[in-house]
Amino acid sequence: MVVKLEKLKQAVIKQIDSDRSQLKKLALKIHDNPELGLKEYKASAWLSQYLEEQDFTVENGICDMPTAFRATYGEGKPVIGLLAEYDSLPVVGHACGHNLICMIAVGTAVSSKQVVDRYGGSVVVIGTPAEENYGGKIVMTTKGAFADLDVAMLVHPDTVDAATIFALACQQMTIEFFGKSSHASANPTEGINALDAMILSFNNINALRQHIQSTARIHGIITHGGIAPNIVPDYSAGTFYIRASDDAYLDELLQKVLNCFKSAATATGARLEYKQDELRYATMRNNMALAQLYVNNMCMIGREVKIPRSKLSFINTGSTDMGNVSQVTAAIQPVVAIAPKSVLSHSPEFAAAAASEDGINGMYDAAKALAMTVFDLLSNPDNLKKVRYEFNRQ
Ligand SMILES: [Zn+2]
Repeated sequence: MVVKLEKLKQAVIKQIDSDRSQLKKLALKIHDNPELGLKEYKASAWLSQYLEEQDFTVENGICDMPTAFRATYGEGKPVIGLLAEYDSLPVVGHACGHNLICMIAVGTAVSSKQVVDRYGGSVVVIGTPAEENYGGKIVMTTKGAFADLDVAMLVHPDTVDAATIFALACQQMTIEFFGKSSHASANPTEGINALDAMILSFNNINALRQHIQSTARIHGIITHGGIAPNIVPDYSAGTFYIRASDDAYLDELLQKVLNCFKSAATATGARLEYKQDELRYATMRNNMALAQLYVNNMCMIGREVKIPRSKLSFINTGSTDMGNVSQVTAAIQPVVAIAPKSVLSHSPEFAAAAASEDGINGMYDAAKALAMTVFDLLSNPDNLKKVRYEFNRQ
């Protein structure tokens, strides 16, 4: 495909080409030193240092999170946010490829310096810890970390190339039933069975399942189910995730699920205590104007990228804290293919892909497309206007 790019747009790509070996080196170093969420001390230090060396002003430990940071180049509006994740998973290491996410953000930011120099505005890399085990961006959203951003972008490794993702709103619920223990054979009439309350809850939820939206999900585990078979369990506990493709419907669904627990308590005589986790995942609001710029730019470097629109895309998806970011500013989280479709995310094979040649190439391509998107936004105010108009209208 022969496309005449503006000279500066070409320079942005060239910069990523000339930074190749440094970006790769740091991506592999982070891959070799996997750190769990909120403990990404090495990765956040290495990334901050790299950006500092590139004349970014770095503020570490923002939002009272020691491994979060904000690195700024330029001054004032518009503010282009590039989000970086760098946490890993237990046992399987970087099996979600977050070592590539942060380097895509860093590569994009460094190559965008010349665009900022020419057109003004600023480019900000925000280091966002603990996507996997905590929902770091939810906390950071409530603390205002993304409030001044005109756009927020993050590219996540995957087995397909797409400009938008579907993510479900998700609420975690912790459930406890309190009963009364007694000898399960000699004095069963004296007992109140907390485990039965938990089992009834599961059955109630299974009855509810037929009558909920097809994109909704309810799944849970029992974390405490009793001590011994000859003791009527006086205590049971469980953790549940309730998800929906619509934030308002999630509220409705939560009430129905709560009724499942309440009625189980009534039936057994056990006392119910429940707690909704304070971190609630929001749905992803894809900014289509922003997604289209990314698609055009990916096409220019020879990658065909789709914009999935069907609601069916909700069927095989989970939740991400990027959803919460997308509620406060115009956002996209495109995915870039680094492995064949047969490779499952969060598997050892995906971890290997995140350090493979295809993984590194995906990182380069995503950084190039994202940097060209930054160019589009800063060089042509109409582009940003369209993006912001769409966000404000929603
Ligand atoms: Zn991930």
